[in-house]
Amino acid sequence: MNGGLLVQPDTRFLQDLLAAGGGDVKKCYQCATCAATCDLSTVAAPFPRPQMLAAQWGLRDKLLADPGPWLCFYCGECSQRCPRKANPGETMMALRRYLTSQYDWTGLSALMYRSAFWELGVLALVSLAVVLLFTLPQSFGFGLLAHASPDALRTVMLGSFAPTHVVHLADTILAVSLGLLLLSNAARMFRSLTRGREIPARQYLRALPRLVADGITQRRWRDCREDDARRNWLRHVLLVSGYGTIFTLVVVFLPWFQVEDSGFRWTGLLGYYSTVVLLWSAGSILIDRLRKRTEAHRFSHLSDWLFPILLFLTAFTGILLHIVRMANQPMPTYTIYMIHLAVAVPMLVVEVPFGKWAHLLYRPLALYVAAVATEWEGVSGHKA
Ligand code: SF4
Ligand code: SF4
Repeated sequence: MNGGLLVQPDTRFLQDLLAAGGGDVKKCYQCATCAATCDLSTVAAPFPRPQMLAAQWGLRDKLLADPGPWLCFYCGECSQRCPRKANPGETMMALRRYLTSQYDWTGLSALMYRSAFWELGVLALVSLAVVLLFTLPQSFGFGLLAHASPDALRTVMLGSFAPTHVVHLADTILAVSLGLLLLSNAARMFRSLTRGREIPARQYLRALPRLVADGITQRRWRDCREDDARRNWLRHVLLVSGYGTIFTLVVVFLPWFQVEDSGFRWTGLLGYYSTVVLLWSAGSILIDRLRKRTEAHRFSHLSDWLFPILLFLTAFTGILLHIVRMANQPMPTYTIYMIHLAVAVPMLVVEVPFGKWAHLLYRPLALYVAAVATEWEGVSGHKA
């Protein structure tokens, strides 16, 4: 797919891929059954066989320039049909984890994918920082709890305990910083995928709507004929809609969302929608993984657990917070609020730029580059 590029074997690559979960890659004997089985594989962009070969040979540079691993939606069909039990579906998943770690310029993602200690440690550290923000400084007289008015200890006054304008500013700073970090990683991915392809900028511009459409709908997933593909696609779309809704509420509309009165509000309605959808989708993902319900759930890397667990706990503590707040229980409200943030903030800070969440941007970007390259080859007769 990136003809003309000089590629060198990377001796450390296989070690890193195994840490990311591609344990069966060496069993592959290149029969190509998997590529023939996959409903999404095309002549222009074949997978997963070429990626299995590149992975076995340690061709890291070739894989960095290949959108192939991101075109797979892990339906598991190829793994079921593989005569060598080389698990190509899981290898593609492991490649996506590995590539995520390579796009991240800070190196934190690579540390987290290589080591459970780092992944859990970083999450725990951010969580601890949130708890300390509310508790430890109080003893020095300048913490958030110390600023709560005496009335706030008799009746729930979330705005006194955690002033909305302060939380809103912190949310905005966090969202902008994480967005910039993620975009800088996505820019590295884009550079890797387009290096060596001589495609004019107008070709990329013309296909931009596709990037947005794929990002929102993940519509290629529906083309998998595997039994559970449509269900999994729908669950993913709902999860993204719930996540997007609550993210918009707390980053853009917080002054209308975190208000003291308990009357009807449109923001409250959206909050309920988001909570129900996140509880259901994250909960059912976890149940599927626990039961190893399909081929795609047979193997779970630590990162496959952490994101849905954090998402579920964020939604759960969010609705719990709402209940105790409605019941006018000041200290339980403030305590659950702190716990809620101690779960939600690490999920955002760690998972968005460095972890599993990032695939929401990387996958549509790879689909976009692959589509542009295919179209350009068709239009110009050039090999992109
Ligand atoms: S992964 Fe399995 S099906 Fe695919 S080429 Fe290798 S041995 Fe054949
Ligand atoms: S897991 Fe499904 S989508 Fe991915 S390569 Fe295999 S058959 Fe194709």
